[in-house]
Amino acid sequence: MNEIRHDWTKEEIQAIYDRPLLDLVYNAATVHRQWHKPSEIQVCTLLSVKTGGCPEDCSYCGQAARYHTDIKVQSLLPTETVIEHAQKAKDNGSSRFCMAAAWREVRNNKDFDRVIDMVKGVNNLGLEVCCTLGMLTEEQAIRLQEAGLYAYNHNLDTSESYYDEIISTRKFDQRIDTINNVRKAGITVCSGGIIGLGETSADRVSMLATLATMPIHPESVPVNALARVKGTPLENNPKVPLWDMVRMIATARIIMPASIVRLSAGRIEMTEEEQAWCFMAGANSIFTGERETLLVTPNPGISEDMQMFQNLGLKPLKKEISNANAVVI
Ligand code: SF4
Repeated sequence: MNEIRHDWTKEEIQAIYDRPLLDLVYNAATVHRQWHKPSEIQVCTLLSVKTGGCPEDCSYCGQAARYHTDIKVQSLLPTETVIEHAQKAKDNGSSRFCMAAAWREVRNNKDFDRVIDMVKGVNNLGLEVCCTLGMLTEEQAIRLQEAGLYAYNHNLDTSESYYDEIISTRKFDQRIDTINNVRKAGITVCSGGIIGLGETSADRVSMLATLATMPIHPESVPVNALARVKGTPLENNPKVPLWDMVRMIATARIIMPASIVRLSAGRIEMTEEEQAWCFMAGANSIFTGERETLLVTPNPGISEDMQMFQNLGLKPLKKEISNANAVVI
């Protein structure tokens, strides 16, 4: 079994990313089989608990208040509604439930108190609870951890050098600060990025290098293909080619072998065969949902996903993710 390394150079990662495709997939599939059961896929349900009206200007996001999109603004859902969704997700085979709020950052107010109650309620159902709420202080992270939060999602989005092209209302370093606060609180980290934003392959490699040189790799690494939302600055970007997704997933699998690599946004535009390539390249997690949306963009529904699992001989991961890599720093 290959060791977990934290000293990857960008040159090494670029060389992996650029390998002939079939060699790359073969290498990644080999690593995947050393660290994970290839037939098990973690099924996560993502629920938007507060939608739209966000003050940030992420150019890929339909929830930014400044863009004219069709997304309906929805204030924070009642706690009971969220718990009902979580119970349904569990009944449908999900082992992780992620709650997303379109906030720039968490504020110490009544809404945060309600999110704390949601975390407690979902935790009581025996699900891994994840949140994505924007920037977070260490004290807020500790509150979430004490309520039973298992993971916090905070994507890097893109490379440090391309960051300003995509978002002007915050800095790349602020992403890192929040991830560090999450770590200090003893919560596992879910962090990846998006491709198709107009970045170069060097930007993709640079983003992966930031993740793979962290003192502890994120336990979950979501790889998203841009969902082109009408009304956002990136609505006319070209569709991400399948092989670019496969290269990203395979490279992430090789350099962060113990992490869960999640095939995230973009699945709706993939055939079952294309998704199978991503699983072969080392993806072992998906988002699914009863409402056939991923936050505010379309996503395959749970029944379609379970049919795909049956066709491919896959099954939902039941147990908790390996936490061997997660220690408090
Ligand atoms: S990605 Fe998140 S922070 Fe950026 S605009 Fe959308 S909801 Fe706001």
